[in-house]
Amino acid sequence: MTYLLNTPDDFADEAIRGLVAAHPDLLVEVPGGVARATQTPSGQPALVIGGGSGHYPAFAGWVGPGMGHGAPCGNIFSSPSASQVYSVVRNCENGGGVILGFGNYAGDVLHFGLAAEKLRHEGIDVRIITVSDDIASNSPENHRDRRGVAGDLPVFKIAGAAIEAGADLDEAERLAWKANDATRSFGLAFDGCTLPGAGEPLFHVDKGRMGIGLGIHGEPGISEARIGTAAEVADLLFDKVIAEEPPRNDDAGYTGRVAVILNGLGTVKYEELFVVYARIAERLADHGLTAVRPEVGEFVTSLDMAGVSLTLVFLDEELEKHWLAPVVTSAYSRGVLPTEERPAREGIWDAAKAEIPDSGAESRACAQKIAAVLDMFRQVCADNEAELGRLDAVAGDGDHGQGMAFGSRGAADAARAAVDDGAGARTTLLIAGEAWAQAAGGTSGALWGAALTSAGGVFTDAEGAGEHTVVDAIAAGIDSILRLGGAEPGDKTMVDAAVPFRASLMDAFDGDAGAAITQAAQVARRAADDTADIAARLGRARVLGDKSVGTPDPGALSFSILMAALGDHLSR
Ligand code: ADP
Ligand code: MG
Repeated sequence: MTYLLNTPDDFADEAIRGLVAAHPDLLVEVPGGVARATQTPSGQPALVIGGGSGHYPAFAGWVGPGMGHGAPCGNIFSSPSASQVYSVVRNCENGGGVILGFGNYAGDVLHFGLAAEKLRHEGIDVRIITVSDDIASNSPENHRDRRGVAGDLPVFKIAGAAIEAGADLDEAERLAWKANDATRSFGLAFDGCTLPGAGEPLFHVDKGRMGIGLGIHGEPGISEARIGTAAEVADLLFDKVIAEEPPRNDDAGYTGRVAVILNGLGTVKYEELFVVYARIAERLADHGLTAVRPEVGEFVTSLDMAGVSLTLVFLDEELEKHWLAPVVTSAYSRGVLPTEERPAREGIWDAAKAEIPDSGAESRACAQKIAAVLDMFRQVCADNEAELGRLDAVAGDGDHGQGMAFGSRGAADAARAAVDDGAGARTTLLIAGEAWAQAAGGTSGALWGAALTSAGGVFTDAEGAGEHTVVDAIAAGIDSILRLGGAEPGDKTMVDAAVPFRASLMDAFDGDAGAAITQAAQVARRAADDTADIAARLGRARVLGDKSVGTPDPGALSFSILMAALGDHLSR
């Protein structure tokens, strides 16, 4: 449990404030998280790493020369919002593009992905690295679909060192993926963790037992067993990870040299970790492996969770060079970096003070129409809030109606404010998309936000838009839902309505967007109704998949309702 806090709501923010206060030479607070106190050299790629809070030193503790340039900091165990990610990037990017690095979790994928969409529309080259080292979470063939745990440390360390050594964006991205593909972790938990201020842990492990392969937020593991001795625990960890050792001495350049991280998850003492490591060291030697700069301690924690994980990085020459390179961050330092003067950063970017780009009169007129559409969406969502909530409650968490109502209201308000400030069509939609995701929370909110942002990329701030632009923008929006959400038709999500809608729209369009949208919306409505026949495989509803049979997918239904309303609105 947490002994020291002021209020649970402020815990994550206050922890960041204290971290920055303790390391003023390294860190500054920026809207959305932290950034280096020094300037990123012109043309150097920025490594922006992040995720939820509660995992210290991941991720804010790894910001500094030789590693991260900045870290958006979400609330405890929840992804930073797209606005937070965007804001931290704006405070780090300096002409060399940006790598967004985070653990492979659905919420992070959505919110970092949405920020990436917006940044790309502004001409910033963004690459995404999803760390996926946890072997308990998927098969070896699907390594990149696994979730990220302590492998965050070596992947970001290696990428940051490569950048410090002069790598450009392509090279840094290549090395980060290479490090991720060479990294394997496995973890055990002896007891759950408790959110600050909460009375009960998020999950329990029975006394004397351990959850094998349990995730760092209590995600289900593989099995459970009696804890056993420290040596037995070490053997279990080692055997699991070494089972995925690549071949030695082939063309890939791996020769049996490994970076080793024995990670405590929060409550296991350093002495206990060393007892375990003594056995790990024996096993490494027995296997003919050389541990390269092993690390034993707390690197990716999970609040006060009792648990331990082992990570091996199967090194080649270039990965080893960057693993060993100097780094100076608040939580993780080694060696000495060249001491040439690093200039202090100049100013802090803040969305609240950001200027609206110049726009042409025709684009401003188009922005007015977009704001009117979003106002209409707000009304339609409010009218359907109760029904959508009821549908989501059958097999989901019951918040879809609220999410759509909050999201559309946030987007409509933001669009209206942007239009009043003279924004063109493109900027209005970019701002509205971010606002939708921020106001809604939830999966559908991030996806609708991404859709608006991507639709905005089809417009310009200079010129007006024809009927064709409207259709192209909708198609771009749907593409981004597919890209970010990763769902396929048949998964029982809004994609089941959006994909046939898109096909029908393209087919029906002959110069009149309103008429084509109306026709396609009827196809979408039938497809949404048909989702009642399938069991959910994705999203929150997947846990209760069979329960959803007989009820249509709420996200598919809200999509078809909004498109029908849009067709109507444009035809009038
Ligand atoms: P949450 O699932 O976070 O509670 P909502 O309740 O607002 O979010 O939205 C649920 C809807 O989101 C689902 O009905 C489904 O249509 C949609 N959804 C969930 N996951 C995905 C995904 N990966 N791709 C597309 N749509 C999704
Ligand atoms: Mg829901």
